[in-house]
Amino acid sequence: ATYPPGIAFMDGQYLPISEAKISVLDNGFLHSDATYDVVHVWKGAFFRLDDHLDRFFSGMEKLHMSIPFGRAEVIEILHNCVALSGLEDAYVEFICTRGTSPTFSRDPRDAVNRFIAFAIPFGSVANPEQMSRGLHAAITEFVRIPPSSVDPTVKNYHWLDLVKGLYAAYAQGAETAILLDANGNIAEGPGFNVFAVKDGKISTPKSGVLMGITRQTIFDLCAELQITCAAHDLAPSELRAADEVFVTSTAGGVMPVTKIDETSIGTGSVGPLTNEITEAYWRMHENDRFRQAIRYP
Ligand code: PMP
Repeated sequence: ATYPPGIAFMDGQYLPISEAKISVLDNGFLHSDATYDVVHVWKGAFFRLDDHLDRFFSGMEKLHMSIPFGRAEVIEILHNCVALSGLEDAYVEFICTRGTSPTFSRDPRDAVNRFIAFAIPFGSVANPEQMSRGLHAAITEFVRIPPSSVDPTVKNYHWLDLVKGLYAAYAQGAETAILLDANGNIAEGPGFNVFAVKDGKISTPKSGVLMGITRQTIFDLCAELQITCAAHDLAPSELRAADEVFVTSTAGGVMPVTKIDETSIGTGSVGPLTNEITEAYWRMHENDRFRQAIRYP
């Protein structure tokens, strides 16, 4: 196999990505029994690292997991992964898996949880061409795993519904998928939250989705720019009739959607509010409140 360049931290060591291997008996691998987070590094600094750490530590607590590292040590490990990789723009993932039990016991309390982190070159959900013309999304019939089954506020690897959605989208010539919730409202997509713009106002689903850090950044930016942004149930018809649609992720920031199924959204090209928010999003990266500079050797 070939891998992107980068550095991983695993079992107390820093390794090239190609050498960072996980046990086949790890419950993270066997049962998706894990939580994780992704933070990005832009021009040599983490963006909103504290928020990603809060979400990660709260997820571990909700899953009854613990690791032998405190917050300060995790920060140190993440810094080291990036510094050792030499990357100025990086995608940094950190994971706590249930780990393994020495006797292969089925009792999750017997397992020794494992912490893994890695830094690889930054990769966006949308490529540069899609960023300039807007993504073509499909609203699939698939229902995102309900919050009564898997707590969406704990960032997790329950992605089979999202992957099924992607294949359904590809089959109809679209590039990405938007899944519904159990009530038929818009939920989220493979790695992103969804936003609609109508008459200058922005809305996004309120519940049943990951509380994205980028989603929170949109609320923060809208407050600053005096744009109304509300979280409420969003019907597929509202998304199709929106003036603008965009999706948000740490891996890509604010990404325009200009076509849903066979419907062009608004004018069919990237809208003014999406552009304004995208610019404000990258400007916010210069704000010392959200920046944490990497200590390169
Ligand atoms: N929803 C899902 C299912 C995700 O996996 C992600 C991030 N990968 C998001 C939304 C966006 O979250 P964030 O803005 O914190 O990256």
